[in-house]
Amino acid sequence: MTRVAVLGGGPAGGSAALALARGGVEVDLYLPARPGEKPCGGAVPEHVLPKIDGFDPSPLPAVVSPEAVLEDSRGHRLALDLDGIRIFRRRDFDHALVEAALAAGAVPRRIKAERLERVERGVRVVAGGEGRVYDWIVGADGARGLSRRSLGLPPRGDSVGLGGSLLGIDPGLDWRRLVLAFPGMADSYLWIFPRPGGASVGIAYTPGRLTDAAARAALDRFLDDHLDEGWRDLPGPRYRYPIPVFGPWTLEAVRRGLSRRILLTGDAAAVADPLTREGIRYSLLTGLWAAGSLLAGRPEAYAERLESELREDMEKAGRARDLFFEGAIGRWALPLSRAHPGIRKVLSDLLACRQPYTGLRRRLLGAAVGLPTSRTHTPCGP
Ligand SMILES: Cc1cc2nc3c(=O)[nH]c(=O)nc-3n(C[C@H](O)[C@H](O)[C@H](O)COP(=O)(O)OP(=O)(O)OC[C@H]3O[C@@H](n4cnc5c(N)ncnc54)[C@H](O)[C@@H]3O)c2cc1C
Repeated sequence: MTRVAVLGGGPAGGSAALALARGGVEVDLYLPARPGEKPCGGAVPEHVLPKIDGFDPSPLPAVVSPEAVLEDSRGHRLALDLDGIRIFRRRDFDHALVEAALAAGAVPRRIKAERLERVERGVRVVAGGEGRVYDWIVGADGARGLSRRSLGLPPRGDSVGLGGSLLGIDPGLDWRRLVLAFPGMADSYLWIFPRPGGASVGIAYTPGRLTDAAARAALDRFLDDHLDEGWRDLPGPRYRYPIPVFGPWTLEAVRRGLSRRILLTGDAAAVADPLTREGIRYSLLTGLWAAGSLLAGRPEAYAERLESELREDMEKAGRARDLFFEGAIGRWALPLSRAHPGIRKVLSDLLACRQPYTGLRRRLLGAAVGLPTSRTHTPCGP
């Protein structure tokens, strides 16, 4: 029987381990002994969740379909319906997914993998002084994890999230509202995401296009504008963390991994959306696709799947990012959406991940001239 080690218990590792265990594969799941809260907004489009057979996140505490306000640097504001978005605390979400994988038969190894060694027809995982040999590894240990390091791959496609989780927020304030702001500084955007027990706040940007100091100052101004004075004293972790986005480096890295019996998934593969920097959905899906290829006995089909499912749409996302953040589209997006219900609906579908980039331009043009605005297809497969 095939033996697989999954490194990492985030969305990519959890979904891969769950699908593999349900498929009858012997799977060991390597996890840090004390998993922490991943710095992350925790927003997940609901339509992706039913794709994970054997996982029901509906009992988890979450903020569901929040009311959203968008702002741009010229003072335009737009209220938008973000129907179909569910915001979790990552600790809850990751823990529930790992528990589902263990219930399905995955074996927990509550220790971080320390070294990967190539052996004849397999890979040895060394952890805590012990070595175990597997036929295949699912690398789901993030942008700077052991899987990429052992392949000699530097982190690529790094956007950055700088921010924090603010806990114990004044319950008198309106914390059901999600705020997204586009400060007109390169490809950055700012957010306040309400979530159980507090809020996730931050700025996403690309180093090289914006300095850390400028990003930090923009975030402070934004939070001063939106939160009560004492927000700086609120407890909760602060962080600066990579968000590896999809690019030409993604498939290159995945192919190199396959040649060494490692299927890179999620942030380890760099699959986040270059425009929204949304990564959870793609981590869950790449975990499922990696597991599916192993279960079909065709691990090499994983790279083909990634290419056919993601490449075209993510390339379009990269181009849309430049138009949105640095072109006329971005400058006019909010006032046009305010004035035009059809365009507003397209923007709402895009932000709630119901509108793929493929077909976006056609739908926007159709909306502008008053044609029906149904979306082109459901993103990312059946
Ligand atoms: C500030 C910020 C906000 C974000 N907000 C959102 C959002 O709102 N929505 C969204 O969709 N995406 C968001 N993202 C992106 C999202 O967080 C990531 O794309 C997603 O978490 C990637 O999942 P993953 O499973 O690949 O990796 P991770 O979630 O990073 O999980 C990797 C796991 O591997 C473990 N690990 C590491 N090394 C080892 C080892 N050697 N052995 C065993 N385990 C190991 C780690 O402890 C970790 O648990 C955000 C990112 C940032 C930085």
